[in-house]
Amino acid sequence: MENNSEKPHFEKLVGLSKEERPYQEGIEGIVSRKLTECGGKTIEKFEIDKTGRDIEVIDFVKGAVGEYTGKYTEKKYNIPLQNIHVFNPGGVEEFTEQKLVVGASSIERGSIVVDRVESDTAFAMHVFHEILHLNSYTALQLKGKEEPSIETYRSGIEVIARNGEKIFFRDIEEAVIELLTRRFYQENIITNEVFDEEDKKNFPICRVEERAKLEALIDVLWEGNKNRFKTKEGVEDLFLEAQFTGNLLKIGRLIEKTFGKGSFRKLGEGNLIKTES
Ligand SMILES: [Zn+2]
Repeated sequence: MENNSEKPHFEKLVGLSKEERPYQEGIEGIVSRKLTECGGKTIEKFEIDKTGRDIEVIDFVKGAVGEYTGKYTEKKYNIPLQNIHVFNPGGVEEFTEQKLVVGASSIERGSIVVDRVESDTAFAMHVFHEILHLNSYTALQLKGKEEPSIETYRSGIEVIARNGEKIFFRDIEEAVIELLTRRFYQENIITNEVFDEEDKKNFPICRVEERAKLEALIDVLWEGNKNRFKTKEGVEDLFLEAQFTGNLLKIGRLIEKTFGKGSFRKLGEGNLIKTES
């Protein structure tokens, strides 16, 4: 376990054959190096130079990340400035071919891309959000023998089935990240002089549906377990812990206790809690 690592942040490579397993550590080292070397070509088409102010905001965000993730995990990926690619507004959407807007992260490359929106507050929150993805628990999988490829197997609370077909907790993962991003806003941005008072009102509203789902779930868990948790934040913390350590045991137990046996899997598949939207 490396602290303040400058390498792409993944904990585990799964999918190795029986014969390959004794060499796990060596193979992971090779993968790590390959990931650092690859990519970056198309990014150059979109990337703009960071201004002094951009760097000031980014440094502020980077300084705060550890304060938040440190509560749950010792690991901290200290993302180098050159791995934070800043685009003009709309750039991320174009770059990701309309798959994502405003920001995206690449575990494989240990980098993020973020639109330089006008508001410093919104920009800071997007950078924070994407860096959290890179500090979340990550396991990669090796797929295919003829033309091997590396894909994500675990990303925080999210689990992708080995056949690649099913994804558990996809919606919740984004909401868990947003949970911490909102705490960052409340506790750091609002109180800080780095940001203009007027600008602080530019709080970006995103992931509305995902947040509603997670909130509904946390409310039920909190209502049903008030004897165990002093505050609702205590329940939220279990989700955050799972996001950064990859250990789903505690939330699994709490969900099974609250909703009954087998409910954890059902919930992961998205069948348990339905919101109005
Ligand atoms: Zn995200």
